[in-house]
Amino acid sequence: MAIFGLIGYPLEHSFSPKYMNTLFRRKEMLHYYEAFPLKEEMLDDFFKNLNLFKIRGLNITIPYKTKVITYMDELSEDVEIMDACNVIDIKDGRLIAYNTDWYGFSKSLEIKGISLKGKKAFIYGSGGAAKSVLYALAKGGVEDVVFFARTPQKAMEMIDLIGDRYPIRAKVIQWEENIDLIREDLSLSDIVVNTTPLGMYPYVETMPSIPDITLSGKVFFDLVYNPLKTRFLEFAVSRGAIAISGIYMLMYQGAKALSIWLDDNFEKDVEEVFKELELI
Ligand code: NAP
Repeated sequence: MAIFGLIGYPLEHSFSPKYMNTLFRRKEMLHYYEAFPLKEEMLDDFFKNLNLFKIRGLNITIPYKTKVITYMDELSEDVEIMDACNVIDIKDGRLIAYNTDWYGFSKSLEIKGISLKGKKAFIYGSGGAAKSVLYALAKGGVEDVVFFARTPQKAMEMIDLIGDRYPIRAKVIQWEENIDLIREDLSLSDIVVNTTPLGMYPYVETMPSIPDITLSGKVFFDLVYNPLKTRFLEFAVSRGAIAISGIYMLMYQGAKALSIWLDDNFEKDVEEVFKELELI
């Protein structure tokens, strides 16, 4: 019997407590998963007093994926390279940091039979989630990446960080209204990923601009998972692309976190729970 949790702020729209607790009940496990919405000034107290809660594992979300690293006793290789952590395993009072976001992204492509080796990718945005995407792409063998980013500096920093370990050719284009800027790079890309919050509930009418080109054969991956069918994906499908919703990334990063905490494989169970909750 153990307590697991999620820390971040705000957390009102998180699916994690619902699906984690549904899974524990289905498996007749006496575990419990709780959301801890922590304002930044509470973070220090939370970690200093963590032993009072007897927590076995934590998920970390926006805006603390890098900030929590200072409280860790040990970092996995992925966290060391990415400088971002979304899972903490607490063993005998020691805090061990993992990153399963990149795995969730890779696994979502793998189940659709999409290989990354030698492919070209295009990424909208350069925030925290883009870093996991870049890591997964580079690890999977993507050779060229183009970023279209409002803050190019952030894209360059992650290219330096990850490119040190997994060399990759990268180009960064300053985000502008003029989408002619990206016509050629996007038309040469095999995988196109939205890592911005554009299209996320309640702003479901927004989407990153896509040039007027044929998209057949390309894979469009939207990290936004609420709604499941974003405008970005609907538009891409109408032009012939294959669409993948961020719900799969969320599902597989969560399954991987459970396998780290409980030393077992939970992918099939998590898939069943997501189906039961009509999330996939
Ligand atoms: P973040 O660190 O705040 O990064 C957001 C990125 O989008 C930044 O590059 C930001 O640019 C850019 N952006 C925001 N609004 C924009 C706009 N109007 N026009 C152009 N660019 C804009 O957030 P994050 O953690 O990366 O999360 C991004 C999205 O991914 C969220 O919707 C989140 O729910 C989703 N996500 C999904 C999963 C999953 O498992 N499916 C996992 C993680 C995140 P600036 O840097 O200039 O602000």
